[in-house]
Amino acid sequence: MTAFKTLDQADLKGKRVLLRVDLNVPMENGVVADATRIDRVLPTITEIADKGGRVILLAHFGRPKGGRNEEDSLRPVAKALAEHLRRPVAFADDCIGAAAAQAVAALVDGDVLLLENTRFHKGEEENDPAFVAALAENGDLYVNDAFSAAHRAHASTEGLAHKLPAYAGRAMQAELEALHQALGQPQRPVMAVVGGAKISTKLELLGNLLSKVDYLVIGGGMANTFLAAQGKAVGKSLCEDDLLDTARAILEKAEASGCQIVLPEDVTVAKKFASHAPAHFVTVDHVAPDDMILDVGPKAVAHVESLLEKTRTLVWNGPFGAFERPPFDEGTNAVALTAARLTSEGRLLSVAGGGDTVSALNQAHAAAQFTYVSTAGGAFLEWLEGKELPGVKALAG
Ligand code: AMP
Repeated sequence: MTAFKTLDQADLKGKRVLLRVDLNVPMENGVVADATRIDRVLPTITEIADKGGRVILLAHFGRPKGGRNEEDSLRPVAKALAEHLRRPVAFADDCIGAAAAQAVAALVDGDVLLLENTRFHKGEEENDPAFVAALAENGDLYVNDAFSAAHRAHASTEGLAHKLPAYAGRAMQAELEALHQALGQPQRPVMAVVGGAKISTKLELLGNLLSKVDYLVIGGGMANTFLAAQGKAVGKSLCEDDLLDTARAILEKAEASGCQIVLPEDVTVAKKFASHAPAHFVTVDHVAPDDMILDVGPKAVAHVESLLEKTRTLVWNGPFGAFERPPFDEGTNAVALTAARLTSEGRLLSVAGGGDTVSALNQAHAAAQFTYVSTAGGAFLEWLEGKELPGVKALAG
């Protein structure tokens, strides 16, 4: 694993700590609609404050494209953060310049201050050295606790790590440790479940996983393209006909690298893409011309579950079916609950994340038992693709 320093190595007492967090929370009518991201960073904020650091929070919000606008102000988030933290959170109208400097100067040890949206300045996304320097004026140390923004080389996610002594916060540390256990030096056998709509968005991910895992289970609309590549009829199912050769190349590469690709042997089909549409199971050789494959079938589920029994490490991205429309959530639910049970029994390390996976696992009531569920979206996917994340690399110095 890339070496990085944690809060255990930081001397925080009396220090101005610039702490990059992800507070890009969903808002409805000016109120935080889901506080998951806030809750994730509370331990780091509390630890720094309790050790006598002066916490200066940096975060982006929305996509203001380098200009100021009230809609993307972090001010309402400061209020929500104070409630969750159960201590006051001061707010400064700007993340650099006089407003920031005055608010920082007013802090005493253990105080918490949130600075206004970093993306109100063009220099943030451009990683402009002058903007990095302006941010750095307010800090003695830099702590990054925003894994979900680590795939962007922005001033507050990457630039600052080169300017100030840099550390990983506890949420970043937990995420990096979980990811390392899952694909860095995993216990074998390793299974990857890759589902979701299309292959075209997951080619790099499949390519990287092939060389790392023992079983690559393919579900969702993606599986249809693989089935079609094997000459099977997929009726009116979602299928990327221009990627049949690519799918065949992936199957060949898997065979060459000793990775077993697992495609469904049966599927759930319907005539309509709608919740509660009449549905039935067929083997993959019997999909009718007007059928739509919307989930895997019970034989496919049983096969994956039997492989899971001997799997030690699971990485999961993407649902097995159109899980938002029951009954096409059944395959995802069944496998997710089995993985959750094996994890609870201490027989499996399970890491999931990216896009709709978190909501699919929540809907299955399985997420809480997984070893780690990443809410990082894009950063999690880039990590699955084997890419080096600039925000993580910079922490290594
Ligand atoms: P992704 O964002 O690529 O992980 O894709 C997730 C989406 O794939 C979800 O909205 C699912 O409804 C959709 N999906 C999964 N399986 C199928 C399928 N067999 N046909 C159509 N859509 C599907």
